[in-house]
Amino acid sequence: MTLGIFSLTCCEGCQFELLNFYDDFAHVLNFYDILNFSLAQEENLPGPFDVALVEGTPETREELKLLKGIRKQSKILVTLGTCAHLGGIQAQRNFKESEVKGKRKVLPVSKVVDIDYAITGCPINREEAYQTLVDIYHGREPYQINYPVCFECRHNQVKCLLKEGKPCLGSITRGGCNAICTTNGFVCLGCRGPVEQTNLYKIKEMLKKYLTDKEINQRLEIYGEFVDNIIKEGDRH
Ligand code: SF4
Ligand code: SF4
Ligand code: SF4
Repeated sequence: MTLGIFSLTCCEGCQFELLNFYDDFAHVLNFYDILNFSLAQEENLPGPFDVALVEGTPETREELKLLKGIRKQSKILVTLGTCAHLGGIQAQRNFKESEVKGKRKVLPVSKVVDIDYAITGCPINREEAYQTLVDIYHGREPYQINYPVCFECRHNQVKCLLKEGKPCLGSITRGGCNAICTTNGFVCLGCRGPVEQTNLYKIKEMLKKYLTDKEINQRLEIYGEFVDNIIKEGDRH
């Protein structure tokens, strides 16, 4: 099968994460011919691709055109990282009125073209990305974790940080990182995006014990498109 790996506006952290342990990444090469991966190879082809991985958000006319072209040339398009899926860090700009005036709204890949699967995280969990590629190769539906980070906390026997008065987003955030932050004493900032059927209104109420409304909204901005209509106009800063 053929693979293209593309980067739009972003920090490119997810592509670097893919390559972080080259021996593991090389395993993917048993399944795919990489036709386009400008971070790692000089000669790149425009497609067609069986699978395309796309990280980042399309922010210029050229990137929008590139993204639509990738979609046309690819049987399966997978977003790589939370910014491509929901807007993530880049889309936080949408919540800052002063900066957004006159600028195009930051849209995630999933709002511009149809996507088939999303690998979330900021950055991604590379093992999850490899497994997704192998599953697609074998014609299996990639497994997508849909339990919250709290589940992994319990598994790791971590004492809940909320009980220490620390505002943690783990209860509404998709697991899969093995609760790396909370296990090391840091609150979950929601980088893997929301777990399905999450109740944002309830978490907002709960966080009011620890944070002001403005601080709560700032934390929730990481969920980008998912919270866009929940953070009301009047709450933007
Ligand atoms: S999801 Fe995070 S690490 Fe990955 S490209 Fe976007 S900003 Fe960078
Ligand atoms: S520390 Fe955070 S992620 Fe862990 S159990 Fe408590 S709320 Fe959930
Ligand atoms: S604990 Fe939360 S912020 Fe940390 S890596 Fe996991 S999802 Fe991301």
